[in-house]
Amino acid sequence: MKTYSVLNDVIFLDIETAHTDDKVIRICAVKIKNNEISRFSSLVNPDKLVELSDYQLLKGITQKELDSSCNLKEVLKKLQIFIEEMPLVCFDVTFKEKLFNRHNEFLDIIELLAILFPELRSFELQYLLKKFIPGYKEDNYTEFSYVEDIILMINYAISHFYCENAYSLPMSITELEKWNWYKHITKVNMEDVKCFIENKVVEFEEKANEPYPVFALKDYEKLFEHKEIWRRNGRSYTLRPQQRDASKFIREGLEKGKITIMEAPTGLGKSMAYLLPAAIYTHLKQQKVIVSTNTKGLQNQLVDKDIPNLLEALNLKRDVSYTLIKGKSNYLCFDRFGDIEYPVNMKTLIGYVYLKRLMLEKGIGEIEEISPAIMEKFNLGFLINQCNCDSELCDVGACRYKDRCYYAAKVEALKEAQLIVVNHSLLLKWPYKSIVPLENIVVDEAHNLTQEAYDAFENALVSYEFEKYLKEIYNSPEKSGYLYYLSRRAKKDTLPLSEVESCIEQCIRQMANIKASFENYITQSGISKDYNIKDHLNINNAKMSSIIRYLEYLKEDLSSLNISLEKAVSVLKDISNLQKDKRLKILTEKVEGINSYSRLLEAVINQSEEGYCFYFEVDKFFKWWKISSIPLDVSGAFYEKVLSSVKSCLFISATLSTDSGYNSLRNTLGINIAKSQNKEIVEVPPIKPVFDYKGKSVIYAMENVDPNDICAFSEEMKKFVIKLLHNVEGNIIILFTSRKRLDAFKEEASESLRALGIKVVYGKKDIEKLKSRDERYILLGSKGYFEGIDIPGDAMTTVILDKVPNINSKEPFYKSLIENQVERGKNYWQAYAKVNFPIVSIDLKQVYGRIIRTEYDYGDLFIMSKFDSVNPTVKKLESQLHDVPIIRKDENEIFRDLNIRVARWKQINLYKIMKEVKPSLKKAVLEQKMIKHNMSLKEFEEIINEFMSLEYRKRNLKYDVNIYLSEKVNIYINGKILNLNAANRAKITQYFKDII
Ligand code: SF4
Repeated sequence: MKTYSVLNDVIFLDIETAHTDDKVIRICAVKIKNNEISRFSSLVNPDKLVELSDYQLLKGITQKELDSSCNLKEVLKKLQIFIEEMPLVCFDVTFKEKLFNRHNEFLDIIELLAILFPELRSFELQYLLKKFIPGYKEDNYTEFSYVEDIILMINYAISHFYCENAYSLPMSITELEKWNWYKHITKVNMEDVKCFIENKVVEFEEKANEPYPVFALKDYEKLFEHKEIWRRNGRSYTLRPQQRDASKFIREGLEKGKITIMEAPTGLGKSMAYLLPAAIYTHLKQQKVIVSTNTKGLQNQLVDKDIPNLLEALNLKRDVSYTLIKGKSNYLCFDRFGDIEYPVNMKTLIGYVYLKRLMLEKGIGEIEEISPAIMEKFNLGFLINQCNCDSELCDVGACRYKDRCYYAAKVEALKEAQLIVVNHSLLLKWPYKSIVPLENIVVDEAHNLTQEAYDAFENALVSYEFEKYLKEIYNSPEKSGYLYYLSRRAKKDTLPLSEVESCIEQCIRQMANIKASFENYITQSGISKDYNIKDHLNINNAKMSSIIRYLEYLKEDLSSLNISLEKAVSVLKDISNLQKDKRLKILTEKVEGINSYSRLLEAVINQSEEGYCFYFEVDKFFKWWKISSIPLDVSGAFYEKVLSSVKSCLFISATLSTDSGYNSLRNTLGINIAKSQNKEIVEVPPIKPVFDYKGKSVIYAMENVDPNDICAFSEEMKKFVIKLLHNVEGNIIILFTSRKRLDAFKEEASESLRALGIKVVYGKKDIEKLKSRDERYILLGSKGYFEGIDIPGDAMTTVILDKVPNINSKEPFYKSLIENQVERGKNYWQAYAKVNFPIVSIDLKQVYGRIIRTEYDYGDLFIMSKFDSVNPTVKKLESQLHDVPIIRKDENEIFRDLNIRVARWKQINLYKIMKEVKPSLKKAVLEQKMIKHNMSLKEFEEIINEFMSLEYRKRNLKYDVNIYLSEKVNIYINGKILNLNAANRAKITQYFKDII
């Protein structure tokens, strides 16, 4: 196709690097000058052996060609003649800018698309190509295909943008007239744009929906048996009886107002099991159902996929409304945006215009919808801090922007919505009780709710937050704070401003004293400062006496501050024109907040109340400190806050039970109190696993490694991982129970792993990379990664855990829980086990759950510490892990064992898929036979292997199988011939006879 560009007088530039490092191996450029097109392309000698990706090999780049090419300096010299002084359009500007010392202007494609289409949620190149180029497919590799795809995408994007905006520039973008893209997009010829759109855009016909089968909604879970509902519009569906049965319990819980507890394993279709009865119930009874989850991933999955799909299938799209609501600070605020000072520098101005377009023109006000790439590129954190919804200032009812505000619309939607998705933390606060009372609740990922409950009922004073809090009240030097503002309006001499000011100053001084006394205590006690320091605030420890003394002083200063503030508030309340000022309301709330801080200080200093853990935490750089009190028993508080008012409640998770069933959850979350109040509790016995854990996975415990000796451990672990890389395929996750061990391993092993071409990654945004087969990744993660990593298929089959994730008994909160059990008459080890076991067993189940996500998955978990077979706790843990064999052997034996198992797992998958696809494979072969008669066995082989390869890809599996039909049937998996016994050979031969 002839290259065409709506942009003129620019160069589109592509710089390709080798597979595993940043060595440049090819530079391509397309020049559009006076609407004439010319091209530049050159391979670059990397001066070393490099690894080429499949993509590069497909484009015909070989090491031999690279070796005979010019080096980078020579190529850049030629390129610079080609590019002249023209602007360079490229995708990843930062990397490219570094290569050039000339002053060509760089035009960043991501920046352009973010301003034209602020609503885009991803700025990954493949996503953008698919989004803008109709019918885009990744094939026909040529040396210029990348650049030409980009040119085509830009053509479509700019044309689409102008078409959407009536062929003119929106006002907001005219604010960016000094932006380097501005002159280029305003120079675009509208006739070209129209012509391009008219000639090229392919409109996809909407597929007509099939008519609905007849079914009665009141049948609830029986609808799972009604296959026509789920197979409508060509979807695939297989009945899962366990899902149907689980759904029955959930429906009964809703209808009869019970508290139901259920462990539903991965693969059961848990969300559909509760969404189906919830949707029908809310429709038939017109009662709202709140679904609470712990992770954003699950919340998005529910509202973007599961709920709409379910309502579509049940023909309830118009009847059941749903919404997702998050905490206020997750939304952009119109009111606050108006107060932002107009930016003077270009980078901030681009971000400002981006936010303005997002909010005002696209009607999007959810901060999480902004792609992380754009957050970083436009440095949006700074602007968002100034315009996210302020929970104290926002009063939807009284807000003058409520008709245009996204958050206000969310609150309005709550009134109508029948299914409401929230997170656990919001559920525990539930500020919308007046609009939506807590009546019917589904708590998914319920195993996380216990920790959330402790967090929600924790009372803490964090130094930097507290200082900010005080300054928000009155900050005379900076002429800010609610009292400052109100005093300006009030113009009253009787306001005790100097008293407030001096009390605040005194409090801030006291905080500096507390910080110094923490520092002294830590230094004198010889406590390591490698990580944050966390310990009990022990009032009987003489070394802590100065900390306690300064906390007492702070409490006294707060009392004085409170008296002055109350005086100020009472003066302000008497001024009639301030009575409606929302700042006065906030100030009054702030005074109440000071009271709660005083109460916390009182509790910490006296520690007279039993059943609390009082602790401190100090930042390792001594920048901040925190004091805290956590109730050791949150059952009463949770009951009062949540359960006391609910009609029905479901607690569901894939990991909820421990050796004592649901006891731990019941006791912690006040379910026993609900029972004593005659609430009916249903404990559904844990549902059996859907996947064949025993047949498709294995756990190895490494006997001779000691994770407690961190240095030696890191070295051992590095050697082990390097060896392991030769024995397993795909990407690997390494999880650490301790930050120290993670850091030590990172330091010890990263370089050696990188030298082997392995990409070592750490961030949550890197999790997606584990699905890749183009490069090999190792993800290092701490406890936060024990759940939420969902990699179906065999791109990732190996998880390593540094040790059994027992609790740290020195951690103040766990220590208090253990002591509490000892006080109740248990010996130390019994007490430790009682606290530890529910946590360790759920953590371990979660880690193990990373491996098997679908029925085709297989995998191995390595625990790098002795998993002692005689220890009773370990025995109990084994039974929690679906009785999968835990193998303790030496390293070589383990690798031998693993290789045999992997070969078997792959064989099981092959037979399973062959069975599943037999009718469609037969059909595909028949179609080919109709086109070409007298096909040879070789041709049959090709069709079969190609077909199977596609089927493997659909299941996220790598097709490393070769099926040969000549002479006799032979199958190779991963290059090794499958040894078939006579019976199996006969069966397989018959299979292919049937096919061809
Ligand atoms: S309702 Fe008003 S104050 Fe609240 S977020 Fe919206 S614009 Fe801001």
